[in-house]
Amino acid sequence: MAIMKHKICLLGAFAVGKTSLVQRFVNDRFSEKYLTTVGVSVSQKLMPPLQGLSAGDPVQHSLLIWDIAGLEKFDPVVMNYFRGASGALAVGDLTRPETIDDLAAISDRFLSVNSNAALVTLANKCDLMENQAEAVPGFKKLAANFGSELVLTSAKTGEQVDTAFELLSREIERRHG
Ligand code: GDP
Ligand code: MG
Repeated sequence: MAIMKHKICLLGAFAVGKTSLVQRFVNDRFSEKYLTTVGVSVSQKLMPPLQGLSAGDPVQHSLLIWDIAGLEKFDPVVMNYFRGASGALAVGDLTRPETIDDLAAISDRFLSVNSNAALVTLANKCDLMENQAEAVPGFKKLAANFGSELVLTSAKTGEQVDTAFELLSREIERRHG
């Protein structure tokens, strides 16, 4: 089976849960301890084969996941980290709707470097929200602006984390083959 490598980036403000989502997805673990990402950390994960998208043989995607620190600081240097990415997970914190504005700005910068990249929007920390109805409309609006799907995730419980990465892989395959 053909294996295709894709670079993806985690986008979002400080402490929304980018590193925790990668940890959950790649190593299936979670820590409450706060570990600040320094610079950039790259992980790799081989996705299960995606069926039924193309007429030919199924393709397996190998994701190179770039978790980049300091995205909220508008440092032009981080633009270099975006280059060559096929897609991104755009992550906000459901308990802090103010993270949506940062995320919109960061996603704009990402798309200015990779105009044809796939985007999936994540409202993370859904385990902390009793009443999600209040925060979700802002996230829906952001996702609609970028023509992306919205997924409510929890890096803590693992809820919908695999789904988010799968949706992104499918969207990358649709756009980049
Ligand atoms: P980053 O700066 O975006 O990489 O954020 P981190 O992954 O370092 O997470 C920031 C803090 O939020 C840490 O204390 C995590 O344990 C916590 N955290 C991350 N995701 C979740 C989640 O889904 N639920 C809960 N309850 N806490 C989370
Ligand atoms: Mg981090």
